[in-house]
Amino acid sequence: MTTETAEATTAPGASVPAAVEVHDVHKWYGAHRVLDGVNLTVRPGEVTVILGPSGSGKSTLLRVINHLEKPEIGHVSINGEPIGVRRHGGRLRELSERAILTQRSRIGFVFQNFNLFPHLTVLDNIAAAPVATGKLSRPAAQELARELLDRVGLADKAGAYPRQLSGGQQQRVAIARALALRPGVILFDEPTSALDPELVGEVLAVIKDLATSGTTLVIVTHEVGFAREVADRVVFIDGGRIVEQGPPAEVLDKPQHERTRDFLSKVL
Ligand code: ADP
Ligand code: MG
Repeated sequence: MTTETAEATTAPGASVPAAVEVHDVHKWYGAHRVLDGVNLTVRPGEVTVILGPSGSGKSTLLRVINHLEKPEIGHVSINGEPIGVRRHGGRLRELSERAILTQRSRIGFVFQNFNLFPHLTVLDNIAAAPVATGKLSRPAAQELARELLDRVGLADKAGAYPRQLSGGQQQRVAIARALALRPGVILFDEPTSALDPELVGEVLAVIKDLATSGTTLVIVTHEVGFAREVADRVVFIDGGRIVEQGPPAEVLDKPQHERTRDFLSKVL
């Protein structure tokens, strides 16, 4: 599985739909081709780490998966359901904004800069979405928020405001917030790159806990050591194309392509 054209292996459970299926996605801005025929399959419970140089299209790929961007060509399915479109009499029709929001609520997204609501307490940051989407009553959402805060090691910060927390603590709250909608997959876009170095470990430890407990994760990061530890699959992307992908022991230790070797020599 070292090229984008390789078929996914037929494993036990292969009849279960992929958690994420990116099918021949092309995305461009004006004349600038940002994604150029990306195919990616993430199976339920799998941890995929995406590596690649700055400007290679990693954030755009995550934004296409979450339907924050619409591809010019190709499509994305989550658990077998196409994102942003539905079949209607053999043709694909665009979904309503409302239906897209419902789909998006099944996908967690953790940003580089945390993006917490500054005017809400930590507890309400986590409880807000399950209440707003009608999934839980307010008391039930707050109970869930307390459980999730405990899980990310911040049980004592429920009443604090984001500005009173360190960057590492804010990012752990953002992860708890993503978990509150019980998403089928969580996308991380460089979750530790805005953090002071001494705060990176606590955030990676929380992500590692999710990874080992079977949550489906797609993580864009430059933390190669972390990728080696938690990834089932590493995907190297450059110039909007997947250059190679496979288990960490292959892509990180025996890269087949010059561009991958070059990138790894700079970040390791
Ligand atoms: P990465 O996350 O790998 O650094 P991005 O996906 O953010 O890369 O960006 C890929 C390329 O697309 C970059 O050249 C960037 O400048 C360009 N790009 C991203 N978003 C936009 C946009 N909204 N309009 C125009 N160009 C964009
Ligand atoms: Mg990016």
